[in-house]
Amino acid sequence: MQDVIIPYEAGTFLVSVAKYVDNLLTHHYNLEPYYNVDTPEDFIGHLIIGLAPHTSVGIVGRVVGFTNAQACFATPYWHSAKRRDCDGDGDSIILLMDVLLNFSKKFLPSIIGGLMDAPLLIQPLILPREVQRQAHHMDVASCYPLEFYEVTLRNESPSSIAKSMDIIKNRLGKKEQFTGFHFTHETDAITVKQSRSSYSTLVTLNEKLDRQIELAEKIHAVNPDEVVKSVLRTHLLPDIIGNTKAFTSQRFRCKSCGAKFRRVPMRGNCLNCGGELQPSVTRGSVEKYLQLGLRLSNKYDVGEYLRSRFVLAAEELATLFEPEAHQTDMVDYVSNSHSIGEEFEEHTAVEPISVNMELLMEDSIQGEEKKHTLRKEKVKEVYQATLF
Ligand SMILES: [Zn+2]
Repeated sequence: MQDVIIPYEAGTFLVSVAKYVDNLLTHHYNLEPYYNVDTPEDFIGHLIIGLAPHTSVGIVGRVVGFTNAQACFATPYWHSAKRRDCDGDGDSIILLMDVLLNFSKKFLPSIIGGLMDAPLLIQPLILPREVQRQAHHMDVASCYPLEFYEVTLRNESPSSIAKSMDIIKNRLGKKEQFTGFHFTHETDAITVKQSRSSYSTLVTLNEKLDRQIELAEKIHAVNPDEVVKSVLRTHLLPDIIGNTKAFTSQRFRCKSCGAKFRRVPMRGNCLNCGGELQPSVTRGSVEKYLQLGLRLSNKYDVGEYLRSRFVLAAEELATLFEPEAHQTDMVDYVSNSHSIGEEFEEHTAVEPISVNMELLMEDSIQGEEKKHTLRKEKVKEVYQATLF
């Protein structure tokens, strides 16, 4: 029930981990080495902990073999007990002795999310009744009853024949929940030649998305416009909006001591230690999907509403970020006022400072208008660049 076939590549890596654990046992704890392994094959029969991404309960498993695929093969019970469909994130396995020796809550970061991806609890045995319901829907019959085919012709809900099908749900609490699992079709291979999902080999989101759309274009049953629409609506747009909000309400963090400030203090560095401050949200994280969103919303028929939302986002970001990448500081004003101040010295006995201030303000208003026009032009540029 908890037997697992692990990737061979993971096995080679675990050999190094096991050697480290053995060193720790002998040199640090003055105990006998535990693993004594030289090759991945030596792990057969050893216990591991399976931990799904972003969870904190590990499930004990036993290594029974290896695969060239980048996947762990186990019963749906085992995967389901980890409480997560990995949906694209990396699953993980850890040697049991490594967890027992080297895990401590004291090593975990105190930030939000610091408790995730760490085995805070270990579940030694799987309780079929307590795993997620997807595993309860697994059918374990050797053939389907005639009734099943009749119901499919009437397009009825699958739940209408749940009682007549041999599914795990109907075996819960009985001895059969652990044994006598059948299948309807024989196969001599459960892996394909492709051992790694392209989700993990493609590097950037642009590439991943392009490939996904390419696939959607090839499958007749899939409408690529709808795929793009859904990606834009559920991923790119919320990302841009969320990060824009985060950027404008962000805090600043000290690189040295980690102190956080609601805004940059007047003296420009950390009030605790004088360290350099850095923004907690970067411009890059706000803008990273903008060009992609604009490109896709123009290339595919996603509707005027959705397309406009990206154009509006582009306009808003262009007002938020200076395209010139030059921030006005006091020195700019001083150098501008220099010539004005000289003029006044020639003419008048009026206190130069107060007059200067007025002129400076006027000057800065003109400067603002100029910047505004520049921004507008930049928006136009960005928009046109993506249209053609
Ligand atoms: Zn500091």
